[in-house]
Amino acid sequence: MNLSGGPQFLCTPGPTTVPDEVLRAMHRPALDIYAGELVETTNQCLERLKAIFKTQGRTYIYISNGHGAWEAALSNTLSRGDKVLVLESGRFALLWAEMAEQIGIEIEVLKGDWRRAVDVMAVEKRLREDHRGTIKAVLVVQVDTASAVVNDIPGIRKAMDRAGSRALYMVDAIASLATMPFEMDEWGVDVAVAATQKGLMMTPGLGLVASGPRAWEAHKAAGLRTTYWDWTFRDGPLHYQKYCGTPPVHLIVGLARALDLILEQTLETIFGRHRALASAVHAAVEAWSIGGVIGFNVEHPAERAPSVTTILMNGRDPEAIRKLCHEQCNVILGHGVGELARTSFRIAHMGHTNAPMILATLATTEAAFRALDVPCGKGIDAATAAIARALRSTSA
Ligand SMILES: *Cc1c(COP(=O)(O)O)cnc(C)c1O
Repeated sequence: MNLSGGPQFLCTPGPTTVPDEVLRAMHRPALDIYAGELVETTNQCLERLKAIFKTQGRTYIYISNGHGAWEAALSNTLSRGDKVLVLESGRFALLWAEMAEQIGIEIEVLKGDWRRAVDVMAVEKRLREDHRGTIKAVLVVQVDTASAVVNDIPGIRKAMDRAGSRALYMVDAIASLATMPFEMDEWGVDVAVAATQKGLMMTPGLGLVASGPRAWEAHKAAGLRTTYWDWTFRDGPLHYQKYCGTPPVHLIVGLARALDLILEQTLETIFGRHRALASAVHAAVEAWSIGGVIGFNVEHPAERAPSVTTILMNGRDPEAIRKLCHEQCNVILGHGVGELARTSFRIAHMGHTNAPMILATLATTEAAFRALDVPCGKGIDAATAAIARALRSTSA
């Protein structure tokens, strides 16, 4: 039996579903890259990104994915031999650290547990020991997309301040920007990175970086700068410098439309929707766990991300569930990553998604559990009740 006609449900934590309006905006001939509409669209995107990162700083758009944005953040602010403290809470900060190491930066990992958020007190303790200020930057992710942990970004800043640290604070907001609050300036973040294919509802292809005054200061002396990533070059007067070469015309046009849609909906509305949809997914997992097989990766409810949920399948094969959902129902769930590769799968609830998409995804996943005799409680009932609660609170 194959039940997979109709539209595809892409529930991976990147890439995510792109609105038809965004795709349509991109379906047009290339534009003049030296003057006119495209130059204005670039400037508009750079301004709107400031509104989304919540910063008065500078924003940069790279033709890259999130990995490129990582390299831009590092190479613009650090020098060979500098040391960074990397806060582990899953796979992604470690990948950023591996990249730093390859370009000659010394890394120290503050060990973390993949089932818990970064321990803010442990950060403070480590930085207090750094009397001579050898740690030049602290690297952390807001949401780790492997573990589905959300970290306390303002709390870590306060810990840095209490310890008297002068390190730059660099935050990966790739899986969280435009899904939950991010206040770059208010929280004292010096460099923030993102990419277009997650909460920002665009196709993959653009890496985004925002930088503040302390990062520009560090930039002046940074020894790892190369032309492609270099902020100074990109701040130059000519439009092509913004991209260090031919601008990615269609991606810029698409990004402009996506940012319009986000700001029209308002960030607060979008955050509320992500909270409600996450609560439906969490309610389903809670109910499924009654069967003794399924469970949350993140133990504490407050540390569960609003954009993605990692679901453990104790002793059962998550790939069998993913395969059934994909091949027979056209629902594409995320696979487990890193040390959770064989024991988990993930449901993304970020970006251009809504209650029917999430309820359908959860119901299909539950049908797959039942079809494969995975014991589970009534997740879909619990998810429906969570959505009903959200509806009641918005109509009250
Ligand atoms: C997806 C993701 C990345 C990597 O982004 P790419 O676009 O795949 O290079 C980095 N960090 C986080 C938190 C992510 O979710």
